[in-house]
Amino acid sequence: MVSRYAGPMRMMLLLLMAGCASGSFDRRPGQDMAEQIVWRGLYGEDSDPPPVEWLDDLVSADAGGITLPGWKVQVTKLNPGDMLTVEQGAISFTRYAHELMHWHTYLRTGDVDAAHWRGDWELANETAFTALWDAGL
Ligand SMILES: [Zn+2]
Repeated sequence: MVSRYAGPMRMMLLLLMAGCASGSFDRRPGQDMAEQIVWRGLYGEDSDPPPVEWLDDLVSADAGGITLPGWKVQVTKLNPGDMLTVEQGAISFTRYAHELMHWHTYLRTGDVDAAHWRGDWELANETAFTALWDAGL
């Protein structure tokens, strides 16, 4: 049975877990270019992008990133199932573009869109991935 509180409760659990994870705000190789391509180019944002905290470990068993609205996004350096890390120049394989779409949607609608129905997820997950990959990121 799935209660109507399952989504919010899961998000709460993720937020609590995210609070425990610690990472680095140091810019990754290619992050400046990725920001131009995704945040400014594809998402058409003029505002500053969110602070990106890079984590060594997964946010949860199945999450390679999380958006904490008004605060920061956390992105795992190694996405589940992938072999390349961000240090190896594989920013396209991370949840970077995905989490930026959560932030973008939050700025536009006031909703971080945990359910993935307000944002342009094809743009985030397909077009942005391809654009980053084509740029060698
Ligand atoms: Zn998401």
